Amino acid sequence: MKIKKALYVVILFLLIAVTVFAADANTVVYITKTGAKYHRGSCSYLRQSKIETTLGDAINRGYNPCSRCKPPVLDE
Ligand SMILES: [Zn+2]
Repeated sequence: MKIKKALYVVILFLLIAVTVFAADANTVVYITKTGAKYHRGSCSYLRQSKIETTLGDAINRGYNPCSRCKPPVLDE
């Protein structure tokens, strides 16, 4: 049953890919000049200023996830 085995490999790969891309320290998020939250790129709070950074950097600098756009958080 070679086809079945290949299917398992594909499913396993997809599961790993989802885990890796879900919330990574290198995920791009956005902060503002004055706020204490970090955001997804589409968040309306980014109208005033939009500074690209990474999830890991934002958390290291004490930023918290925005309650409106619910950006990813880091799972330890
Ligand atoms: Zn936001």
